[in-house]
Amino acid sequence: MAESVRVLLTEDEVDKRIKELGEAISRDYEGETVHLVCVLKGGVFFMCELAKRITVPVTMDFMSASSYGSSTKSSGVVKIVKDLDEPLKDRHVIIVEDIVDSGRTLSYLIKMLGDREPASIKLCTLLDKPERRVTDVKVDYTGFEIPDEFVVGYGLDYDQRYRNLPYIGVVEFN
Ligand code: 5GP
Repeated sequence: MAESVRVLLTEDEVDKRIKELGEAISRDYEGETVHLVCVLKGGVFFMCELAKRITVPVTMDFMSASSYGSSTKSSGVVKIVKDLDEPLKDRHVIIVEDIVDSGRTLSYLIKMLGDREPASIKLCTLLDKPERRVTDVKVDYTGFEIPDEFVVGYGLDYDQRYRNLPYIGVVEFN
């Protein structure tokens, strides 16, 4: 079966929106240093672009979490594959995610990282599928709300492929 990718959000649309998010974060954190926490691997493309658009001082750290379950659905049981290198105490943390789907991964992460006594903790996601939400996780900065389709690109994979696409697309099997 042949695979193709239908474009959902173009490179220009994504770039423009990330610039706007960077401007909003820069306004909201004026006079502060923002500590960006990237959730690997999917969040890395978004975080790099976002960080370049933030004009207040930025520090960053990386963690990797995997949820047990199939490749297209999260089970809610989250395993920390790589923890952060630095403590979060008294820092203004923004968790940077590629996509919020059920919200289970972020609910778990926000509780776990919130216990480390940051000065504040907010969530920023490039994509949100609100109709799939099963937890009441509050997202502070959202790039795009998208329909319930399995998307790839800009860090998001299908079987580890397509992360490098500079746009967001939907894999189609023809
Ligand atoms: P949640 O815990 O919110 O259900 O799932 C979040 C994680 O599931 C994301 O970080 C991502 O790894 C994966 N995920 C959810 N929806 C999609 C999607 O449409 N495409 C891809 N590639 N991954 C997704």
